[in-house]
Amino acid sequence: MKNEEKQFIVILERKKCIGAAACLTSDPENWVMQNDGKIKLIGGKEENEEIYKKEITAEELERFKTAGYGCPVNAIHIIEKKTGKRII
Ligand code: SF4
Repeated sequence: MKNEEKQFIVILERKKCIGAAACLTSDPENWVMQNDGKIKLIGGKEENEEIYKKEITAEELERFKTAGYGCPVNAIHIIEKKTGKRII
């Protein structure tokens, strides 16, 4: 059985984004470039103009880690919901 529990939170600090598109290249299903040259996290909730958050499952974790590690300006973070532990 698939574990659908959303165990992690992805945070995009949009103001840091320089549009390098490493995230988009690694995972085009979850990231989309906007007209202002910055990325948007698909399905993410806009906490304010600069911060987007999306809850993800353990299964989705690897693809978001790849995006996060590829980001040259550390604009993508991942936190474990239960413990608040920062993964990236
Ligand atoms: S990899 Fe980082 S800088 Fe590049 S588009 Fe994604 S969030 Fe923005």
